[in-house]
Amino acid sequence: MKKRYAMAVDTVRCVGCNACVIACKTENDLPNGGFRDWIVQEVHGAFPNLSMEIRSERCNHCSSPSCVDACPTGASHVGEGGIVAVTKAKCTGCKACIAACPYGARYVHPAGFVDKCTFCLHRVRKGRQPACVETCPTRSLAFGDLSDEDSPVSRLLRSRRNKVLKPEAGNAPNVFFLS
Ligand code: SF4
Ligand code: SF4
Ligand code: SF4
Repeated sequence: MKKRYAMAVDTVRCVGCNACVIACKTENDLPNGGFRDWIVQEVHGAFPNLSMEIRSERCNHCSSPSCVDACPTGASHVGEGGIVAVTKAKCTGCKACIAACPYGARYVHPAGFVDKCTFCLHRVRKGRQPACVETCPTRSLAFGDLSDEDSPVSRLLRSRRNKVLKPEAGNAPNVFFLS
């Protein structure tokens, strides 16, 4: 069966330490002010019954990626394992994809192209985990192939309550948040 890479982010385990953000910046040599992942903290409920959800967010590698549809040059495309990628050489930096992404997952690299999370495909191809997943000290992040029912992601999605962000956008995200 065709691979479908996905990530499960455990919002219960995550402590918002930012180690995943730093690991990504280092691994992918990101420029100052450029981020492929980021932390969101949301307070839910009303005093005194408050709870905080902490999420490590990144590109959702959507199954219906509006960024790809919006790209006039074909630079943004769906690649191996369903990963949504940008071919630097084809990118003119027009920002149509940035406007089309409901998740704010992309930024303009100072070199003129648009950049975003790649699920660390360069590592995955070598049988390794994405840098953020490997680094997380609380093991909040799981990466794997949804078409393999024994992958860590598939098992977590079967056993835990989960959601995607902004399902109403219709992009069919492949990053799932466990609660
Ligand atoms: Fe959360 Fe892990 Fe990222 Fe720390 S490294 S912010 S615990 S996902
Ligand atoms: Fe494209 Fe945004 Fe979806 Fe990533 S999260 S695939 S950049 S629409
Ligand atoms: Fe960054 Fe790789 Fe994690 Fe994506 S999978 S957020 S590129 S470390």
